[in-house]
Amino acid sequence: MGDSNDNISLEAARERYAIEREKRLRDDGVEQYHEFTGAYEDFDIDPYVEPGFTRDPIVEDKTVVIVGGGFAGMMTAINLTRRGIRDFYIVEKAGDFGGTWYWNRYPGCMCDVESYTYLPMLEETGFMPTEKYSSASEIFGYCQHMARHFDLYPHALFQTEIDEAVWDEDVERWTITTSRDDRLSAKFFITAGGLLHKAKLPGIPGINDFAGRMFHTSRWDYDFTGGSATEPMEKLRDLRVGIVGTGATSVQAVPQLAKTAKELYVFQRTPSAVGFRGNGPTDPEWFESLEPGWHDARVKNFTQCVTGVKPDERLVDDGWVDIMWDNTQDQQGTPEDRAARERLDFETMQQLRDRVDEIVDDPETADKLKPWYGKHCKRVCFHDEYLPSFNQPNVHLVDTDGRGVERIGATGPVVDGVEYELDLLIFASGFEVTTDLDRRLGFNPKGRGGVAMSERWHDGAHTLHGIMSAEFPNLFNIGIVQAGFGTNFVHFLGKSAEHVAWLVEACSEQKIATIEPTPEAEEAWLGLLYEEAMKIAGYSLTCTPGYYNSEGQRTAKAARNLVYTGSLLDYNEHLVDWRDGEFAGAKITR
Ligand code: NDP
Repeated sequence: MGDSNDNISLEAARERYAIEREKRLRDDGVEQYHEFTGAYEDFDIDPYVEPGFTRDPIVEDKTVVIVGGGFAGMMTAINLTRRGIRDFYIVEKAGDFGGTWYWNRYPGCMCDVESYTYLPMLEETGFMPTEKYSSASEIFGYCQHMARHFDLYPHALFQTEIDEAVWDEDVERWTITTSRDDRLSAKFFITAGGLLHKAKLPGIPGINDFAGRMFHTSRWDYDFTGGSATEPMEKLRDLRVGIVGTGATSVQAVPQLAKTAKELYVFQRTPSAVGFRGNGPTDPEWFESLEPGWHDARVKNFTQCVTGVKPDERLVDDGWVDIMWDNTQDQQGTPEDRAARERLDFETMQQLRDRVDEIVDDPETADKLKPWYGKHCKRVCFHDEYLPSFNQPNVHLVDTDGRGVERIGATGPVVDGVEYELDLLIFASGFEVTTDLDRRLGFNPKGRGGVAMSERWHDGAHTLHGIMSAEFPNLFNIGIVQAGFGTNFVHFLGKSAEHVAWLVEACSEQKIATIEPTPEAEEAWLGLLYEEAMKIAGYSLTCTPGYYNSEGQRTAKAARNLVYTGSLLDYNEHLVDWRDGEFAGAKITR
């Protein structure tokens, strides 16, 4: 058992946090990653559909076109349906509904927020998750169930990507062309492209030099590995496997890979904090006993519990609630208040570091697996098999001391001059979150006067609530940039979906032809975002880079591409208040 940090002081931890952060800061920030385009295009091939799909192009006028068939797009469609609006298409690149749960089928994948709060619309569908944390295959199945239940399939255009979306001033509609030669026009264009849908490759030179098999975790090749999301990957028994990245995805995949890989090398840049999970089957009697209205109450209560609101009752009993109960990033109050919060944060993280010592046998490996940053800096992971994997003789941690893999050679990744020979290299390198919207969407909407979004947003996002943008009438975006953010992403998506469906109905009922915010309202919203960000600025500055802080980048653009850092509940209140307020800050034509 490692014991070198047993008696570490808060002061020493503070110093260590700064050293570890410094090692990881890089000038290229979010630009360090590779997109799945050009030389990396093959990484994007969808392994879950049969090749050769064709269909006739569609030329049609709709009230709404939605981009994205994940939870955000589906909930938008369901909210529109509830408001009597059924005249919409959902355009989706994948071969089915599900979004992130369509793409992420890697072994061990499951939701990290309790299923009874994470999965939307459980009361409407009557669906009972079989476990406290549902597997990805159950969630993907649930997405298909939702689509059937709410009759969304007739509205879906799968395996279809948007080529262009152009605002047509003359008819006051969006003209949308697709990779299937569709030509759609729509009064409202809703981009629900997903929070974690654009996979990225690590910025490591030489990726394409590797001679073995490679893929990203969101495009798992079970033909190569054998097995499935639920069966062991038998074909790995004679193979040397490497996985780059140790975020939430890797934490779930490593234990499964460790079961069958001959050798497994885990390439680490920054360790994750890994708390206790305690998954288990759902008690059907308990589930049956839940009273109407339970789901909304549970979702709200969970968000309260993890944002420092501290409600009287904790409806969800898990690691998230224990760890995030105190909001320790808040820098308001007296110096004593701040000191108390810093100590609480330190103690929580120290417990997580101690947990590594308790579980991992080799002290050197244990030390390398310890996270040296505050609890709000990166998404905390929860798993009961990840850390024990490192006690297996076939599992090797290759710690890069914050620098990342140097390069990739023909036989494998190089760290400290050593080339690790592999047959399979898996990239658990995450997704783009705060890069430019047009880059994440895969197309560049052209608004009034043919001005592209990349042009108007050359210095970062300009929005009201993260949803509407001046010069892009009737375009509503669901995404976290300049919008809400929280532990339970689906809570955020659900509230955003309600808001955009309300906008469509309100405009239709009030004979509003176009709606967009004024630039002044956008700047006022940005001011409010900055006010919130200032409350935690002192804390954020101590954080190691990651997608929470645009990789620590401090450019003017990164400063605009921030999220609403206050509570998600407060963000939701902003939307509700605005809906009561006669379109304040919006420019409307009739
Ligand atoms: P992350 O962005 O969290 O992790 C990417 C990993 O790749 C990090 O460990 C990163 O290191 C590493 N990396 C990047 N570049 C290099 C490099 N050059 N050399 C070595 N390592 C490198 O992505 P994930 O897919 O793990 O998770 C993303 C998010 O998806 C999660 O935070 C969570 O919100 C969501 N998710 C949710 C799940 C759920 O259960 N609901 C399950 C899985 C994911 P570094 O930290 O240093 O940048």
